[in-house]
Amino acid sequence: MTESLLSTLTGIIAIVAVGSAGYMYKSIDETGLLAGVAVGSVFVTIGGLPATVMLITFFLIGSAFTKYKYSLKEELGAAELKGGARNWRNVLANLFFPMIMLIMFSFCSLPGAKIAFLSSLSGALSDTLGSEIGVLSQKPPRMIIGFKKVPPGTSGAVSFIGTLASLLGSIVIPIEAYVFSLIDRSSLLIVVVLSFLCSTLDSVLGATIQARYRCETCGAITENLHHCNGRAKLIEGLPFIDNHAVNLISTGVISVVALILGDVI
Ligand SMILES: [Zn+2]
Repeated sequence: MTESLLSTLTGIIAIVAVGSAGYMYKSIDETGLLAGVAVGSVFVTIGGLPATVMLITFFLIGSAFTKYKYSLKEELGAAELKGGARNWRNVLANLFFPMIMLIMFSFCSLPGAKIAFLSSLSGALSDTLGSEIGVLSQKPPRMIIGFKKVPPGTSGAVSFIGTLASLLGSIVIPIEAYVFSLIDRSSLLIVVVLSFLCSTLDSVLGATIQARYRCETCGAITENLHHCNGRAKLIEGLPFIDNHAVNLISTGVISVVALILGDVI
């Protein structure tokens, strides 16, 4: 067995092990585990050790912050559903563009693809931390556009601690990339800024195009199409643009911006 095949196999075993642990602790459901292992195998095979470590970091930090004070988030009505277990949609919404950028980086030798890979992955982490910590803000958050005070957990709302958490989430992956000598200091800074912009864009899209519905049975305002066993009525945003779509669009936009930037710097 060649050395590279052996390290690829070891990496995939690591992904399966971490994913299975996540499944046991209900951080992901069966479909999330399947999607995670599929995406993880791509990361391991073409991104080697650095991409594998970054993906595992993303998963562990994201899961830990989702579980953090979960029952309080549930009381606030701002928790991820099903005990915080992410499904395949979550996995793809966050990791589709990082995966495509990693493939482009490996096979097309586009200079911006490396920055795009790191920025979209780091942006997804930044957004997760901002959402999971932001909902715990003591002060009511404000919409990123118009600054109206809204209940915690509203898409498009921002708070001081949520913004701090986003910033923290923006620096972890770039530092790892620097430690692995994938980027120099100036690129590190660029990736941090792009990651933070990615989660900011996520909030802007959450405040503008994300669908909001009113349940015609109980009157609740919700981001879910279904409420009280029926279809809720669209009152704001675009139909079918849910939180997953917003994640996908913001990581996609940041990838394109990074691709262009990487070409000019
Ligand atoms: Zn209802």
